[in-house]
Amino acid sequence: MQYETELQREMNRQLDEKQILEQAKSYAFDYFSRVSEMRAVPSEESKRALTAFDEAIPYESQSPEQVLALLQSAGQSNLSAQGGGRYFGFVNGGILPVSLAARWMADAWDQNAALSVMSPLAAKLEEVSERWLVDLLELPEGTAAGFVSGSSTATLCALAVARDALLLRQGWDVRTRGLYGAPMIRVVLGEQAHSSVFKALSLIGMGKENVVLASVDAQGRIDPANLPEIDGNTLLILQAGNVNGGAFDPFEPLCARARACGAWVHVDGAFGLWAASCKETKPMTRGMDQADSWSCDAHKTLNAPYDNGIVFCRDRGALVQTMQATGSYLQYGEERDSMLYTPEMSRRARGIELWAALRFLGRSGVDVLVAGLCDNARYFAGLLLARGFRVLNDVVYNQLIVACDTPDETRATLREIQSGGVCWCGGAVWKNEPVIRVSVCSWRTTHADVEISVAAFENARERAAQSK
Ligand SMILES: *Cc1c(COP(=O)(O)O)cnc(C)c1O
Repeated sequence: MQYETELQREMNRQLDEKQILEQAKSYAFDYFSRVSEMRAVPSEESKRALTAFDEAIPYESQSPEQVLALLQSAGQSNLSAQGGGRYFGFVNGGILPVSLAARWMADAWDQNAALSVMSPLAAKLEEVSERWLVDLLELPEGTAAGFVSGSSTATLCALAVARDALLLRQGWDVRTRGLYGAPMIRVVLGEQAHSSVFKALSLIGMGKENVVLASVDAQGRIDPANLPEIDGNTLLILQAGNVNGGAFDPFEPLCARARACGAWVHVDGAFGLWAASCKETKPMTRGMDQADSWSCDAHKTLNAPYDNGIVFCRDRGALVQTMQATGSYLQYGEERDSMLYTPEMSRRARGIELWAALRFLGRSGVDVLVAGLCDNARYFAGLLLARGFRVLNDVVYNQLIVACDTPDETRATLREIQSGGVCWCGGAVWKNEPVIRVSVCSWRTTHADVEISVAAFENARERAAQSK
């Protein structure tokens, strides 16, 4: 008996005729051909096109070609130009063509990376990526990696492992007893720790206010001379890359102190961990390998597609112990089973595009990529200073903190930059002052992009002055 529903027949047709995949490919090519001229973020006016999506769910199945056409017509004018060279918002990152292509392949294969038996390829490429990254970032040999969605999750995992390990040393097994009645852990972190660290602390039951804040210097680095007391029951959280200014904590003295007393050190290195892979920025990471765990993003500095983060843990056993799951149907193999290293069970094989990025770039390519971001950041800073803007941080990496003469002028100029659409930057508050935050993190940015953006800053400042 041969029985096919109409829906099955239709979807088989879609695969046989290749039409919708070709259509998607041509839309993608269209995006890349326009992205350099596109507004950095959509205008208020184009956001109106989004109302096309405000409809009731259709009853009948629709033509897939029309579904994609709607996405293209109403959706494409509402994108951030992440793939271009003038998006400097947050700390985001561009996209390496080879990683995008590898991701397309991985998406077509729809592999589940949970167990090696589900996808030997995914398991192998995560194993290789783990080894390559540990080598590239000069982390301790044997360090384990879990491939997660981003640094927020990576930090969450690492802090959970640290909590479990610190309490286990005191004879308390959190995994079975929970935190009710558990001994306290002392959490010490810098005043300018990223919000995701506080969120992770609250999620793992340690409380985001239950911490001791270490004072920081003018660049936002923890000052070792004023480090609060730490002991063998302390979780010390450091930063590779201050979220605003990009500064690195002085790892060498801080990790030495932690090692001497047995404190657990975690490094939030969402975008800064990559400094270890670049000759020019490597010195800032000296001593970072003395930590116990690290969190990092491949979707930021490395320019892998979203979403791609990594948790590293020196003690492989500790990571596996915290992330362990059991079930009679789970078939752990001889090979690397990813779900032993992450909170998720099923997940997409993001190791594939990560591997592709590393295999394409090689050591020298990563070095050039990171150095290029830093070079553009310095160039940006130099031009802005020459045009009378203030640059408030030491530009040691890819981040700039910029201000005009007065807080009002800064605020108004930022508004004009954002609505102008030539480039896009976010704002922040730095030492009680509103600032413009520039993050150079796409491979696509050139000196020409920087020059165009600096001109946009000047125009914005003029417009702001006129509208006063
Ligand atoms: C971006 C960032 C995070 C959060 O990473 P996600 O990948 O967005 O979850 C954490 N810490 C720092 C310093 C960051 O820049």
